[in-house]
Amino acid sequence: MMKSAEIRQAFLNFFQSKQHQIVASSSLVPGNDPTLLFTNAGMVQFKDVFLGDDQRNYSRATSSQRCVRAGGKHNDLENVGYTARHHTFFEMLGNFSFGDYFKRDAISFAWEFLTSEEWLGISKDKLMVTVYQEDDEAFDLWHKEMGVPVEKIVRIGDKGGRYQSDNFWSMGDTGPCGPCTEIFYDHGEDIWGGPPGSPEEDGDRFIEIWNVVFMQFNRSADGTMSPLPKPSVDTGMGLERIAAVMQNVHSNYEIDLFQYLLQATAKATNTDDMENKSLRVIADHIRSCAFLVVDGVIPSNEGRGYVLRRIVRRAIRHGHKLGQKQAFFHTLVQALVDQMGEAYPELKQQQAQIEKVLLTEEQQFEKTLDKGMAVLESELADLKAKEIPGQLVFTLYDTYGFPVDLTNDIAREREMSIDLEGYETLMEAQRQRARAAGSFKVDYNDSLDIDGDTDFTGYNKLEGSSKVVALFKEGD
Ligand code: ATP
Ligand code: MG
Ligand code: MG
Ligand code: MG
Repeated sequence: MMKSAEIRQAFLNFFQSKQHQIVASSSLVPGNDPTLLFTNAGMVQFKDVFLGDDQRNYSRATSSQRCVRAGGKHNDLENVGYTARHHTFFEMLGNFSFGDYFKRDAISFAWEFLTSEEWLGISKDKLMVTVYQEDDEAFDLWHKEMGVPVEKIVRIGDKGGRYQSDNFWSMGDTGPCGPCTEIFYDHGEDIWGGPPGSPEEDGDRFIEIWNVVFMQFNRSADGTMSPLPKPSVDTGMGLERIAAVMQNVHSNYEIDLFQYLLQATAKATNTDDMENKSLRVIADHIRSCAFLVVDGVIPSNEGRGYVLRRIVRRAIRHGHKLGQKQAFFHTLVQALVDQMGEAYPELKQQQAQIEKVLLTEEQQFEKTLDKGMAVLESELADLKAKEIPGQLVFTLYDTYGFPVDLTNDIAREREMSIDLEGYETLMEAQRQRARAAGSFKVDYNDSLDIDGDTDFTGYNKLEGSSKVVALFKEGD
């Protein structure tokens, strides 16, 4: 049975044997890219190379990139705890060609690594692939050269079709993009879900493991697409997802690394029920929170710092739900260091600092969490409707420091929704009062200033997630 760390190493070795330069993971905070909240894919550190604005002394690269998807275009925060496959933090294994090889090699490298006995040796029967609607070339490569039967190749178009998946990948609203081909693993008929392109594709039976993007265009802010200087390749495979396949388990949370974190979380929250969803949320969140601190993000009321604050508070609230009212979250850094400190020495080096930052945030939120929950419970007890009123959402935010998505998380657990519009109206009124009073200098409330007045959009909007039914809305 291959451990996660062994899979990571095998991947890098494989691509090194194919003349790829091994490149270290870059920071979660993208250098010099105001269009992007966090590094959300392996290609981010190579963006300028794809665009032709930067040159390297290699034309093939491979990496294991730490990624966070908790805001912006790719946001999986709402999926955590609900799907078997999404994390806020994960590692993306990737191989890249900067105007070197293109479709044929990209497809055959991926297939060889997955199926050859020398490497992962995954049974071909369990795999299926998608290609972009018009991409006959990719279709033929899969069918004629790799021998994938036609019934296991699905053509998928752009987003906006009937289902959520699309086979045109982009990093954000602007930047390099192109058609892609994706590889899925069938975890078996016992699990609910259907193949990509089917009405049940949101399920977790067929899990996407690898996305191979044929980078061909640069999308600019006005939406126009211009060709890149040279056709290139960008691929991404989630380490946790491929580890689940290799360890014969279905959910990412059952892999070696997460089992260890879940045990530690259960211990820290005095929980016996290992199936409790809150354990998974906390085990997920400690990774994104710790690594964001490693990369210099500090909890605050705006921008990246506010995303971090939201994730920490969400984790603490889940601990609270498990009955742990003392500060516990920071103690999980040790378990994370045990699991990932070797691959990421910076995590180990900064352990004390991470614990301190998280503890401070815990202590601060502890002061209001209990009271806020009590207010919420008492108001909900009298509430007939299935929607938490905007006024209450606002009070929880404004007086008790509950980020809106945290309240939404609670609502969803109770099969309720929140009145996001009502909340936003109150927020806007408060901003106007603050402006009118010229009170910018007065820090009269700790949790002010999360309004939309920032370069990033997306994370301060719930994007439809206030509907309890929208479980998989943020799939892509
Ligand atoms: P999904 O459709 O399952 O949400 P995706 O299409 O959004 O995945 P890509 O943007 O294509 O994912 O990213 C490349 C790969 O990274 C995916 O094939 C998957 O293996 C992995 N991946 C993506 N998002 C996550 C996540 N939130 N947690 C863990 N792994 C992920
Ligand atoms: Mg997908
Ligand atoms: Mg994908
Ligand atoms: Mg997705």
